[in-house]
Amino acid sequence: MRRFLVAGNWKMNTDRVTGTALASALAAAAPETDDAVEVLVCPPFPYLSDIGAATTGSGVQLGAQDVYFEASGAFTGEVSVSMLRDVGCSHVILGHSERRHVMGESDELINRKVRAGIEGGLHVILCVGELLSEREAGQTESVLDRQLTGGLDGVSEEEAMDLVIAYEPVWAIGTGVTASPDQAESAHAHIRKWVTDRYNSVFADRVRILYGGSVKPDNAQTLMQQPNVDGALVGGASLKANDFVPIIGAAKTLASV
Ligand code: PEP
Repeated sequence: MRRFLVAGNWKMNTDRVTGTALASALAAAAPETDDAVEVLVCPPFPYLSDIGAATTGSGVQLGAQDVYFEASGAFTGEVSVSMLRDVGCSHVILGHSERRHVMGESDELINRKVRAGIEGGLHVILCVGELLSEREAGQTESVLDRQLTGGLDGVSEEEAMDLVIAYEPVWAIGTGVTASPDQAESAHAHIRKWVTDRYNSVFADRVRILYGGSVKPDNAQTLMQQPNVDGALVGGASLKANDFVPIIGAAKTLASV
């Protein structure tokens, strides 16, 4: 049985005061590690230490929204895996659609980051997802295949042990338009089949595939109820405890049936 993961991507939002208050509210709502549902928050870099302090000892884990692949040196503006580990991060989101489409990251660059993250002991959440035009052109599965093949190039099964994949259709991110449960399930099933073919069925059975794209308290349960949806990567609704806590609650309800 795969353990649900509910992750909050705060993007470039919050400040020290509002972020710490949000983290404290989440820590109070998830005071200890839950065997059935893992909770993660990914704040902006400058607040990682503060958010880490506010969630220490609770069931809320800490992740970053990006990392660079080099270990140290003249890479102005970048942060390394060891820096993230140093401030308490266990996870990193890589290949987010905003990194791909706003910052122009290629599968090759994402792959270097994925390999550095794994090598340095971070749990990588690799995001994949198609544009609306690609969906409309019937290219969803080929886009997912390309992003998975590129992002996981050279990553062995052993290295991929803690990998999480997030299916995030770009047209559903921050738009209020959510993939239907059937659309999500179909993409997730395709991703799991890709993992089976690339690795094997035992590993594919174990790897968690999150759905992301306008997840809200009122649609979280139906989406996470799909057999191949193992949790959610949540943007906008992770910025308010009143929205994020019920999403965690939806995963707990599903885990208990
Ligand atoms: C995201 O940023 O990963 C995301 C899914 O955002 P939203 O939930 O706001 O669509």
